[in-house]
Amino acid sequence: MAKRDYYEVLGVQKNATADEIKKAYRKKAIQYHPDKNPDNAEAEEKFKEAAEAYEVLSNGDKRARYDQFGHAGMGGATGGGGFGGFSDIEDIFSQFGDIFGGHFGFGGFGGGSRGQSRRVNKGSNLRIKVKLDLEEIYKGADKKIKVNKYIKCDSCDGSGAEGNSSHSTCDTCNGSGQVIRIQNTILGQMQTSSTCPTCNGDGKIIKNKCKKCSGEGIVKGEEVLDIHIPAGVAEGMQMSVSGKGNAARRGGINGDLLVVIEEKPHPELVRDGNDLIYSLYISVSEAAIGGQVEVPTVDGKVKIKLESGTQPGKILRLRGKGVPDVNGYGRGDLLVNINVWIPKKLSSEEKKILEKLAGSDNFKPNPDNSDKNFFQRMKSFFE
Ligand SMILES: [Zn+2]
Ligand SMILES: [Zn+2]
Repeated sequence: MAKRDYYEVLGVQKNATADEIKKAYRKKAIQYHPDKNPDNAEAEEKFKEAAEAYEVLSNGDKRARYDQFGHAGMGGATGGGGFGGFSDIEDIFSQFGDIFGGHFGFGGFGGGSRGQSRRVNKGSNLRIKVKLDLEEIYKGADKKIKVNKYIKCDSCDGSGAEGNSSHSTCDTCNGSGQVIRIQNTILGQMQTSSTCPTCNGDGKIIKNKCKKCSGEGIVKGEEVLDIHIPAGVAEGMQMSVSGKGNAARRGGINGDLLVVIEEKPHPELVRDGNDLIYSLYISVSEAAIGGQVEVPTVDGKVKIKLESGTQPGKILRLRGKGVPDVNGYGRGDLLVNINVWIPKKLSSEEKKILEKLAGSDNFKPNPDNSDKNFFQRMKSFFE
């Protein structure tokens, strides 16, 4: 099923402020909250859809990425995501807490008739590593990855209940999911609430538990995921694909899949940020006479021209032959670092020729001005 535009989901303009997005989301969350729409699968979908849209649009980085690449930039057709160094993605509930006053409970919005709040389960996040070679990093990659995880129990469709057996209200907490304890303190009576131990905060008890999943609504399984990794990622980056982590108990919201990038080293090219470095060896005669040499790029070999009198240590810059920036800010360059190969063994004839040349004025070292940058280069190298 094609995903709806996140702005459309929340019913806001593309240029909506963070505040407008928050308000719009709050409205949708209240409208479609499972407590107000019991056993309404469509409302539940809308609730999750709004939560996903909010997760992306409320985060500056993710929103920018979404604006630029749409759903395709968010980790394939599968869901929202973004890149953020080593930091874990914000838990969706910490954002909810902000809106709903610190607890993921909806008692205040229940309309009084139920007068109950219920916790919505969230599946845990899963972390996987994906190893990419330089070609894949250069072009971006679509990976099919088999993931072992908790999936929705197909026998009960995630409800945890056997057949059509219904749920009954939890006696311990009367369906609120919370147990309240009153303590006498020197400041008077204090009321503390905690998750109901009988129903684990669900507020209801399943009469006949599904045999396959023992009433949990989830089972261990595997899923083959299509994951799109955009070009330009680097070792250690973490991409989150929302909703592709572990399934939640009894039909809650899925956790996220965190994809950690690992780089396979390239046999010839070394990566430095978005630039690539190649160490080229040329012969003494090529350096002196000049000519054409081949250098490898990620795309294949290219020919470059050497001027006569090319000095070792010279760096040739092939613009745009580096790695694309992960955020779409252009591409790096390929830097060709020139080395001159000095033969280690000489035949007596070669030795004679070189001895003859050694007397020639042209063969006496005569560094031109370009090498005066040498100390500066060295200094910055060691700093
Ligand atoms: Zn089941
Ligand atoms: Zn209970």
